[in-house]
Amino acid sequence: YGLAALAEDADAVARVFEVKGRPRSHPLIVHLASVAQLDDWGVLDDNAHELARRFMPGPLTLLVPRRLRVPDWVTGGRDTVALRIPNHPVAHALLEAVGTGVVAPSANRFGRVSPTTADHVAADLGEDVDLVLDGGPSAVGVESTIVECAEGRVRILRPGAVTAEQISAVVSVQAGPDDGDSRAPGMMKTHYAPVARVVLVESMTEADSEMNRARSAGLRSALVHHDNVEDYAESLYSDMRSADMAGVDVIVAVLPPEVGLGAAVRDRLMKAAARPEG
Ligand code: AMP
Ligand code: MG
Repeated sequence: YGLAALAEDADAVARVFEVKGRPRSHPLIVHLASVAQLDDWGVLDDNAHELARRFMPGPLTLLVPRRLRVPDWVTGGRDTVALRIPNHPVAHALLEAVGTGVVAPSANRFGRVSPTTADHVAADLGEDVDLVLDGGPSAVGVESTIVECAEGRVRILRPGAVTAEQISAVVSVQAGPDDGDSRAPGMMKTHYAPVARVVLVESMTEADSEMNRARSAGLRSALVHHDNVEDYAESLYSDMRSADMAGVDVIVAVLPPEVGLGAAVRDRLMKAAARPEG
C-alpha cells in the first residue's frame, strides 16, 4: 500500500513527507501506468529496456538517470529517478485515470512496518489521508526489487520478488551495494522495525531454544516462520504487526535460505532486527 500523490505537484508531495514523517532527502519512487511512459521520466539504457520488457508491470523498480521534468522534491535532488509500474488492477486503474507519474512510498509512518492491507493503512495513518483504496491484501508482501541501470551497468540495490536469479538470467549483474547507504537512501539498517525486539535464528531448533530463553526471562515471544518462502514474504509484515498488537516482547524469526525470494525476506528481517543506530 502506497501513499499516493502527483509527482509533479509540490504541495501534494510535501504532504506525503509530512504525513509519513519521512526525511525529505529520501527519494520517492514514481509509479506509472505503462511501459510506454518510462522514457518520459527516465533515461533507460538497453539493460533497463530489457528488464522493463521482461518484468514490468510487476514488483520491479528501475533506478535510472532522470529526465528534466522530474522534480527535485521527488529525487531529493539526485540526478536519478526510480520508476515502477504496478500490476495490481486497482493501482493500475488509478494510474491510468491520473495519466501521469504518482509517487507512492509505503503508507505507514516512517521507519515502521510497511502496510499490506487497507486496515494497516487506516491504523497507521488514520485521518491524515484523504482516501484509502482497498485492493485486498498485498500478494507479494515485501517492497519492490530496486535495480539500478546506468552506463551499461546493472546493480540490485534492494532484493524483492523479482529475484536476483531472474534478473541475472536477462542481463549481466554487478556485485550489489556495499551496505546500502548513500547510494540507496532510505535503505538504512533500521527500516521496517516492529516495536518488539526481533531475534533472528537459522532453524526451528534454535527458535525453540530462543523462545524458551525468553519464557525463562519472563518475556512473551511470538514465532515468525513459514516453510514456503512466498507465504513468508506475503505474511511477514502482518505477522510482525500482529505480534506488536499482541504486545509481545520478542519476535523470534527463522531466516529462510538466501535464494530467490528468500533473499528479500532475509533482508527485511535483518532490517527489522537491527537496533537504531547511534
Ligand atoms: P519504497 O521504500 O518502496 O517507497 O522505495 C523508496 C526507496 O527507493 C528509497 O528509500 C530509495 O532507497 C529508493 N530510491 C528511490 N528513488 C531513488 C533515487 N533517485 N536514488 C536512489 N534511490 C532511490
Ligand atoms: Mg517504506
